[in-house]
Amino acid sequence: MDQSIQKKFDSIAPMISHTPMVEICYRYRGELRRIFAKAEYYNLTGSIKDRVAFHVLKKAYEQGEIHPGDTIVEATSGNTGISFSAMGRFLGHPVVIYMPDWMSAERKNLMLSYGAEVRLVSREEGGFLGSIEMTEELAKKGGVFLPRQFSNEDNTQTHYLTTGEEIVSQLARLGLVPDGVVAGVGTGGTVMGITRRLRDENPNAKGFPLEPLSSPTLSTGYKIGSHRIQGISDEFIPELLKLKELDQVISVDDGDALIMARMLSQQLGLGVGVSSGANFVGCVLAQNLLGGESIMTTTFADDNKKYLSTDYSDPQKMKEEYLSKDIQLVSAKAYR
Ligand code: PMP
Repeated sequence: MDQSIQKKFDSIAPMISHTPMVEICYRYRGELRRIFAKAEYYNLTGSIKDRVAFHVLKKAYEQGEIHPGDTIVEATSGNTGISFSAMGRFLGHPVVIYMPDWMSAERKNLMLSYGAEVRLVSREEGGFLGSIEMTEELAKKGGVFLPRQFSNEDNTQTHYLTTGEEIVSQLARLGLVPDGVVAGVGTGGTVMGITRRLRDENPNAKGFPLEPLSSPTLSTGYKIGSHRIQGISDEFIPELLKLKELDQVISVDDGDALIMARMLSQQLGLGVGVSSGANFVGCVLAQNLLGGESIMTTTFADDNKKYLSTDYSDPQKMKEEYLSKDIQLVSAKAYR
């Protein structure tokens, strides 16, 4: 790798990964429990995807798969695009992002602010799958690097080597061994990589993929329904997700995800995004299965700032009859 590029990777490395782990105590129908979540908004652009963009680009440079001047082209529902925009431009590459047009305005504007070109794709043009096809089409012209996050094993490997590794070592410092992980599925990289790393530590560790109740693509195999948890359930089963290696799919209502994200903000000062709310509720359901004492882990993939223009900010759109009414948050304590 060119020395000036290596220097650039080294210069941003301390701002990616090594995120705090938050122990959250809560009561479920009166029973005191706790879960452990990685606060991923502590990364460079504010999401877990910085880990992936950094690792994928570094590996591509090491293996000669990307060259100075190449255009980085990716299809994304948001966070991956934001991470590749920031890092790609920093390394001197043009960046083109294809994204479904129903994602929040903040996502598009953030990519533009980092200097990427954003091409919005409507449902009629194919939405997510259309976005992926368009990246492959553009790559035929040459001079393009495609990260292919939905099929690139380096995405899963990132979470095996970093996110999962950090969870194991941070818990070990507390004298704990993980019993499992719950993670909402976008590409599946998070849930696959963490599950594999946890099982090195505890062969019985569970890996629960999570999806929205109203859009059960993983459970049914079909593109079905709609939901308000941006970043997960992109209307198809991604190649990286190996359901046979995992445990049961956990379904969470998007109303619960919204309510829980706001509860974490308002009661514990943890301003997390909607998929983080879903992951927390998913951990509660996992503990209902495995026992309240089980050491369950998850990720808070990003923070609330990208969702302020969505239903996240509209309490009218969150009803009270959901599962979250049985959950009382008690306290949060962070560990490095
Ligand atoms: N939550 C959010 C907010 C995301 O942006 C993503 C990635 N699209 C995920 C969860 C899911 O992560 P993964 O792609 O690793 O399955």
